Amino acid sequence: MNENMKAVLEKIKAYDKIIIFRHFRPDGDAVGSTKGMQAMLQASYPDKKIYLQNSDFCDYMTFLGAEDVPLKDEEYADALGIVMDTATQERVSNQKFTLCKELVKIDHHIPVQSYGVCQWVEEERSSTCEMVAAFYDAFKDELKMTKEAATYIYTGMVTDSGRFRFRSVSGETMRLAGIILDQGIDVDTIYANLYMKDFEEFKFEAYAHKKMQISENGVASLFVTKAMKKKFKLTNEQASASVSFMDSIKNSLIWIAFIVGDDGAIRVRLRSRFVTVSELAEKYRGGGHACAAGATVYSKAEAKALLQEADALLKEYKAKNKGWL
Ligand code: AMP
Repeated sequence: MNENMKAVLEKIKAYDKIIIFRHFRPDGDAVGSTKGMQAMLQASYPDKKIYLQNSDFCDYMTFLGAEDVPLKDEEYADALGIVMDTATQERVSNQKFTLCKELVKIDHHIPVQSYGVCQWVEEERSSTCEMVAAFYDAFKDELKMTKEAATYIYTGMVTDSGRFRFRSVSGETMRLAGIILDQGIDVDTIYANLYMKDFEEFKFEAYAHKKMQISENGVASLFVTKAMKKKFKLTNEQASASVSFMDSIKNSLIWIAFIVGDDGAIRVRLRSRFVTVSELAEKYRGGGHACAAGATVYSKAEAKALLQEADALLKEYKAKNKGWL
């Protein structure tokens, strides 16, 4: 337990109304941590009003259930806002978070921006959900975990750690996952929901395997055009999932998906083994974790420039390091 966790709990206890927020284009961890925190706090403090207020959702997490209806603007004024899994304020899904009386930040991203009266940031944690589990474990005399909350938290732990595969996974991750599992959650159903895809998505995957390219030094890339999305009837989220198709190519330590958005801006999803790609993402209006980052480019030429920089980065990494795969 650290002082920041204690400060977060004190803030929570001091407010009758709490509104929870996350980053836009939410992933499993953003959804799991916010829903998990909401369910845990509501069970622990039945008299408090705990809301989740976001302006966008995550298709593959809809199995975790519906979210709260929007509150009126004036209802934010006396609330504590808890912003989770979000490195910077610009990335908060619901920008009304600024209307809250005070803000708390809980995050596991590289801390590029501080905000809020109280911050608990641990970038070595495998997920923000792991932090929610740690929060419960630290204050279990005060807090109540439910099966519902545990389902949300476990789902985020699983997704953000690459199914407990990434280096960010520690003994502590597994011990906390054990505590969450002990709540009697149905892991079979969670995994089925995470792995199942529409038939069209399988067709797209086969097509993407043909289209992906590899640079001289091993950067794998895939460009997903509007036409491809139309052909396979893909949502932007389904198209974006294509980055994972390239995650196990030998010697390809960096892989990047470019997804052309409806407004023409190109979403860039960078992933890597061992090599830090977040600094490259920062150069292209992005950021994130060392081995999982996001950026935006506005033309094919800019995408090409980013790819060239990634190739140079990988060349340098391979020249200086041994033992990579
Ligand atoms: P994505 O590929 O969009 O899933 O992003 C990978 C990770 O980087 C996630 O944890 C995102 O929250 C983070 N990320 C993506 N884009 C940005 C950005 N523009 N600034 C900071 N972090 C980002």
